[in-house]
Amino acid sequence: MTESTSGRVQSPPVSAQRRALAAIARAAAPGYGYCYRCEMPWKFTENHTTWYSERRGCFPLCEPCWVVLTPEQRLPFYERLLHEWHAERQVEGGQAEAIIGAAVAGG
Ligand SMILES: [Zn+2]
Repeated sequence: MTESTSGRVQSPPVSAQRRALAAIARAAAPGYGYCYRCEMPWKFTENHTTWYSERRGCFPLCEPCWVVLTPEQRLPFYERLLHEWHAERQVEGGQAEAIIGAAVAGG
């Protein structure tokens, strides 16, 4: 995905090799969730959990993607997660603010 809207911070591109591997991996792991940046399914890469309360975490990014991005560059991926959770009516009051706050804080 790209963050092309209205001057948003651009993420460094995912390598062609990672993209190719992710495509193969997704075919081999149907039904698995995946990193929103490189699209590698969780069966084949470690997720980075962002804890936004004592017991609750979320993981829009894998660890290899999370580590190369700044908190600002990560935000669009957390926003995508929240957008999908909103569509599924899974967002509770205060949850979006907690998640974005944790992401901005570098969690
Ligand atoms: Zn990734």
